[in-house]
Amino acid sequence: MVKVRFAPSPTGLLHVGNARTAIVNALFAKKMGGQFVLRIDDTDAARSRKEYEEAIIRDLGWLGLAHDQIAHQSARIAAYQSAFETLKAAGHVYPAYETEAELDRKRKQAAARRLPPIYDRASLDPEKKAKWEAEGRTPHWRFRLSRSTVDWTDMIRGPVEIDTATQSDPVLMRADGTFLYTFPSVLDDIELGITHVIRGEDHVTNTAAQIEIFRALGAQPPRFAHHPLMVGAGGEALSKRLGSLSLASLRDSGLEPLAIASYLAKIGTSDPVEPRLSLDDLAGDFDFARIGRAPAHFDSAELMALNAKLLHQMPYEAVAPRLAAMGITASPALWDAIHANLNTLADAKALALLVTGPIAPVIEDAALAAAAAGLLPPEPWDEATWNGWTKAVSAQTGAKGRGLYHPLRLALTGQEQGPELKKLLPLIGRARTLARLEGKPA
Ligand code: GLU
Repeated sequence: MVKVRFAPSPTGLLHVGNARTAIVNALFAKKMGGQFVLRIDDTDAARSRKEYEEAIIRDLGWLGLAHDQIAHQSARIAAYQSAFETLKAAGHVYPAYETEAELDRKRKQAAARRLPPIYDRASLDPEKKAKWEAEGRTPHWRFRLSRSTVDWTDMIRGPVEIDTATQSDPVLMRADGTFLYTFPSVLDDIELGITHVIRGEDHVTNTAAQIEIFRALGAQPPRFAHHPLMVGAGGEALSKRLGSLSLASLRDSGLEPLAIASYLAKIGTSDPVEPRLSLDDLAGDFDFARIGRAPAHFDSAELMALNAKLLHQMPYEAVAPRLAAMGITASPALWDAIHANLNTLADAKALALLVTGPIAPVIEDAALAAAAAGLLPPEPWDEATWNGWTKAVSAQTGAKGRGLYHPLRLALTGQEQGPELKKLLPLIGRARTLARLEGKPA
């Protein structure tokens, strides 16, 4: 049984970057008939906020990615402490005494000698250790890496090999007894039964150390998949724009959740960036093999265009309740008339008004409008009415092409452009059409 987790820190709003990680996790779980766990990484009490957690849950729900299970790291401290004692007893962790300033100095010295900033394990030296202990220093705790090669087959990156001799022994516990991200994450993955860890490639180096921690705890590591990060359309980092790229602000700008899900599921893959009409469709397409190794380019204009394309494909039933909630007296015929002209669903309001009115008609060619009024056939009308009627108007007035259609559009809608008139006409109906041709607001 596949079980994945999405593990945001509740220190800010969900944005397109972490939402993409959530989508990849959720689609894989859906495809495999597995479970999607939401893990709230709230061990940083100073920065974590309940309202961010609530916003994350709301935004995931809006995207359609409801979780099957939720876990809070803040509620699992006792479990971390007891597993940490196990590591300690087995000699996998050791106390380290250097202050932040001392570590910083070591890093600068290494840089000056063009060496990588790898922790030198000075705290393992019995003399130094005795001296620091005698000074009454409280240690933090580091995991002792094997300093050998760790390998795994990444479901996106393929075979990965990392020599942990190239890394510092990670600090698992601070001097104040609180845990950093690395260790709780591993214990959670073990105890929640996570089968696949899917996350951004900024975690690739963590993975080597985490695999060693899984093994130190006697657990089989899960499978890993690290997706490339997302960058802006011009290749720039997205970090500075993440505020405006929060799901909340995209929702406020009128984007459809499915447009965002489709976009984030497709960019950076070998699939065309096209809207899909359901998360099930997106899950059906999902395949790690289709996720490329290059960064995915996030382009707001492309997302907007995809949103419009989605609306153009959306069936009436999918939007009917929302149109009603917007105060629009909708029908399948109205949707059919207007959906090809929408950029966002909010545009439907103004387009529906073209039918119900009142609109201010613009009479560009009075003679033509009068002739057209005189030639209006009796109701009932359908989509063929427009064609027959305009042919008759053309025959009588000699107007053709733009000279025929443009004045009629201005009279009937007051607008230069808009939905197909053959679809609008039967909805507007004879009485309003007549009034508008006479220049009366209707
Ligand atoms: N809270 C971590 C992050 O957002 C989770 C990383 C992970 O998926 O293991 O980076």
